[in-house]
Amino acid sequence: MTPTHSRLETQLVHAGEPDPPFAGAVEMPIFQSATYRYAGERGYDDVRYLRSHNTPTQLALHAKLAALEHAEAALATASGMAAISGALLGLLNPGDHLLAQSCLYGGTHDLLTQEFENLGLAATFIDADDARGWERALRPNTRAIYVEALTNPLLQVADLRAVAPFARAHGLISLIDSTFATPVNFLPVEHGFDVVLHSATKYLNGHSDIVAGAAIGRAELIERIRHKQIILGGALDPHAAFLLTRGLKTLALRVRYQNESALRVAQFLERHPAVRRVHYPGLASHPRHARARELFAGCGGVLSFELQGDAQQADAFSARLRIPAVAPSLGGVHSLLTRPATTSHAGLSATDRERLGITDALLRLSVGIEATDDLLEDLAQALA
Ligand code: PLP
Repeated sequence: MTPTHSRLETQLVHAGEPDPPFAGAVEMPIFQSATYRYAGERGYDDVRYLRSHNTPTQLALHAKLAALEHAEAALATASGMAAISGALLGLLNPGDHLLAQSCLYGGTHDLLTQEFENLGLAATFIDADDARGWERALRPNTRAIYVEALTNPLLQVADLRAVAPFARAHGLISLIDSTFATPVNFLPVEHGFDVVLHSATKYLNGHSDIVAGAAIGRAELIERIRHKQIILGGALDPHAAFLLTRGLKTLALRVRYQNESALRVAQFLERHPAVRRVHYPGLASHPRHARARELFAGCGGVLSFELQGDAQQADAFSARLRIPAVAPSLGGVHSLLTRPATTSHAGLSATDRERLGITDALLRLSVGIEATDDLLEDLAQALA
């Protein structure tokens, strides 16, 4: 692709696709083969085998993912958690210490609190909103810092500009889970991050029909993650890789629509008397609205809110909705509603959830690509 064809929308369609195409196929074919004839590869990691993440459908996807994030290299994995665990285990060694944002996706939180110690690793949670406290949390063995672009489920916006300079000053690797932002709204590599992680299950694929993940960033680090993932075994199947490649093509169209739709939904909920609180950084009332405007092209399709009432009333409201499915996950074309205390953050103790501000009554809505007016009407009837 020439530099004039380097805009995101064009890259989503064309980056990584073979040129010339295989047999003239306009769409990258699925190479449904687990193994490939030996062609003189020297090391184990180079032998062409699906678990080694180096077969044609996987490689085309890697090139597309790297181009979208303005990064050197990418690795697609069998789930978002395979990307996150592969990255942390691939980049840290026993005895190492990690600084991590305090409010994280539940699975990542569980990895740090339930598995790290058994693996000889340690993590300290930091208030990622305020860089002034980070230095105090450093230890001589601190090797990396981990944040989320927009946190799940409270949509907090950390001091993301401060992360890479802090990491560089202290010799740390900087990692960010950018699932909620996507390259449409935010490019972490342009802010100096070393590794960008995604649950590609969400926006990147966008259709709630596969589970996938991605680790994207500096080539040397992605190679270390790939090496670890070859051992752990979390490679992405070629058919899922094909679906993810296809889903990516409409990413910009979907996410821009979802940015606008979610903002309108958030504004509607904020004005409604039956709603106590709305968390969405696109709202002027969000404590980090100014920071979000500086960092992001849009605030994405996910918002969370609390009704005037308890968890039971929140469930009754969810049951009255006709369009959003009450289901975990987010970022797809269908609107999905969930109560994080029972799904994404059920693994945290009630005390941890309370400390982080994830109340039992909190609802998280992932706005799909349905007509916004239909969603507003549906919410209004369920709130009435
Ligand atoms: N990161 C974030 C921000 C998530 O919301 C999720 C899942 O909800 C994950 C990672 C894990 O992704 P996966 O379910 O694809 O393993």
